[in-house]
Amino acid sequence: MPKTDAFVPGEQHFILLSLPPSGAQKRLAFALVFGILTIYFIAVGPLSDIPPYPIAAFIPSYTTAMFVTEALTAILLFAQFSILRGRAILVIASGYLFTAVILIPWILTFPGVFESTSLIGGMQSTVWLYFFWHAGFPMFVIGYALLKDADPSKQFWHGSVGAQIALSVAVTTAGVLVVTFICTAGEALLPHVMLDSLHFGPLWPIAGAPVVLLSISALIALWLRRRSMLDLWLMVVMCLFLIDQLNYYFNSARFTLGWYAIRISGVIAGSLVLICLLYEISKLYATLLAAVLAQRREREARLMTGDTIAAAIAHEVKQPLTAMVTSADAGFRFLDRSTPNLDRAKEAFKRVVADGHRAGAMVDSIRANFRNDERTKTSLDVNELIRNALALERGNLQKHRILVQAEPNKQLPEVLGNQVQLQQVLLNLITNAIEAMAAKDEPRVLCVKSETHEGDSVMVSVLDTGTGVSPQDTDRIFNTLFTTKPDGMGMGLSICRAIIEAHNGRLWFSPNTPRGAVFQFTLHANRSMSAGA
Ligand code: ADP
Repeated sequence: MPKTDAFVPGEQHFILLSLPPSGAQKRLAFALVFGILTIYFIAVGPLSDIPPYPIAAFIPSYTTAMFVTEALTAILLFAQFSILRGRAILVIASGYLFTAVILIPWILTFPGVFESTSLIGGMQSTVWLYFFWHAGFPMFVIGYALLKDADPSKQFWHGSVGAQIALSVAVTTAGVLVVTFICTAGEALLPHVMLDSLHFGPLWPIAGAPVVLLSISALIALWLRRRSMLDLWLMVVMCLFLIDQLNYYFNSARFTLGWYAIRISGVIAGSLVLICLLYEISKLYATLLAAVLAQRREREARLMTGDTIAAAIAHEVKQPLTAMVTSADAGFRFLDRSTPNLDRAKEAFKRVVADGHRAGAMVDSIRANFRNDERTKTSLDVNELIRNALALERGNLQKHRILVQAEPNKQLPEVLGNQVQLQQVLLNLITNAIEAMAAKDEPRVLCVKSETHEGDSVMVSVLDTGTGVSPQDTDRIFNTLFTTKPDGMGMGLSICRAIIEAHNGRLWFSPNTPRGAVFQFTLHANRSMSAGA
C-alpha cells in the first residue's frame, strides 16, 4: 500500500485506522483470500457432485456466530468513534450494526429453522434479505471509503457523540425494519429467485448482479483510497463477500459443500475486523500499562533524588553543627568560671560563627552540586585545601592520637573547582580515615599527598592504616546509603564521587599496604594559573 503519506488526523492514535499495514499483514490478507478461494474451488469443483445435505443446527449456529461477531465489532467501532470522532468510523460501525440486525429477520425467514416453512415471510423472503444485506454492507463500506480522509472538524452536524451514535443506530435499525417489511409483507411482489426452499432459479444471477456490482465498487473505492490496516482488512472482507455472491452463479442450491464453505468463510470475514480491533485494544492497553509503570518508576526515582538530597544535606551539615555545639559549649565553660577567660571564649564563639557560615555554604554547594553550576568554580590551590581540611579536623586527629603526614607538592598547578565542595571531599575522606583507624588499636598514620598526574591533572591521595575495606564491599562503598557503621549514613563517598565527577575528575579506592585504605582523586589543572602554595 503505497499511500502512507496521506492525511492522518493528529489525534488519531488508533493504529488500525492510522497506520499502514505491515508486509506480513498484507501477505496474511492475500493468503486468507487465496486460501478461501482454493477451498471454495475444491468444494464447487471436484466435490460438487456431493448432493445438498441440510444440517439442522448449521443455520442457527452460523447466525449466532455472525450476530455476535458483527454486533461486537459494531460496539467496538462505535466506542472508537466516541474517542476519535471521524464520521467514517461512525459509518462503518453502522455497517456492522446493519449486518448484525438484518441477521435476525434473515434467520426468522429461513425455511425450516423454526417451522417447516418460515416463521415470517415467504419462500422469497430469505434470499431478498440476503440481497439487501449484501448490498447494504458494501454501501456502508463505500461511505466509509469516501469519508475517511475528510477533515473531522468539518462536520455537517455537531451533535453530542451519544446523540450521533443514537441517531446512527436508529436510522440503521429503521432501515433494516423497512427492508424486512419489503421482504416479508411484499414478498409476493418480489421477483421469484428461489424455485423451492433449496434451489436457486435462473433469476438469481440477474437479481444478484447489482449486489455483486456494489461489492466490486466498494472494493475499488477501498483500493483507491487505501492507507490503513482497517482498509486492508475491509478489502479482504469485500473479497470474501464477492466470492460469496459469485458462488451463487455456479451453485444452484443451498446446503451444498460450496454453500457451506462460503458460509464458513463469511464467519471468518465477519470476525476479521473484530480480531484486529481486539488485538489493537489489547496492545493499547499494554502500552498504557507500560506508560503508567514507567511514570511510577520515574516518580519513585524523583522521590529517591529527593531522599538523596535530604540525606546529603543532613550528612554534610552534621559535621559543622557538631563542631558548633562543641565550640559553643567550650565558650560557655570559659565564661562560666569565677574569672571568665574572655579571650578564649571569644575564640570559641568565633569558631561557632565560622562553622555556621561553613554549614550555610555547604547547603548552597549541595544545591550547586545537584545543579552542577559552572559559575561557582574558581582557581584553587589544592595544598591549601588540604591544609584547611587538616586544620578543621585537628581536634579529631588529636583525640584519636593519629600521626599526620602531609606531603604537599610545591610544583602543583592550581585546579578549577568549587572550593566548598572540594573542601568537603577532603573532609569526608579524612573523617572516614579517622573513623577507620579509631576502630583499630594499631599505629594510626594518616597521609595526605598531592602530586601532578598525567601531565595535566592533580592527584590527591588520602592513605590510612585503619580497618581497610573488605573485598566484598569494594564495589559497594561508593553506592548511596551503603554503610558499615552503626550510625553511618552511607552518603559521604557517593557525594565525594558526585562532586569529583562534576569536576570531570575521578575518585577511586585501593587497599593500602600492609593495611588500611587509599582514596585518590584527580582534578584537571587550571593551566592558566600557577601554583600559589
Ligand atoms: P559512612 O561513612 O556514613 O558509612 P561513606 O559513604 O562515607 O558513608 O562510606 C561508606 C562505607 O565505606 C563506610 O561505611 C565504610 O565501610 C567504607 N569506608 C569508607 N572510607 C573508609 C576507610 N578510609 N577505611 C575503611 N572503610 C572505609
